[in-house]
Amino acid sequence: MIIPIRCFSCGAVIAHKWEEFQQLKAAGVEVSDALDKVGMKRYCCRRMYVGHIDLIYETAPFSTAIQ
Ligand SMILES: [Zn+2]
Repeated sequence: MIIPIRCFSCGAVIAHKWEEFQQLKAAGVEVSDALDKVGMKRYCCRRMYVGHIDLIYETAPFSTAIQ
């Protein structure tokens, strides 16, 4: 789905850096360097970004809110 607002482990707000991270990745920046640039220091927060699969566009057509 969408990136969680907070880190599951430490509770830090992480979602506001997601778009910037995606833009850096699309520009060809290495994932670890992109995480450093957006200010992700703790490994619990970094794994939230590394392990996330954005499925919102896959599931949105099946949402009842659209009908
Ligand atoms: Zn964290």
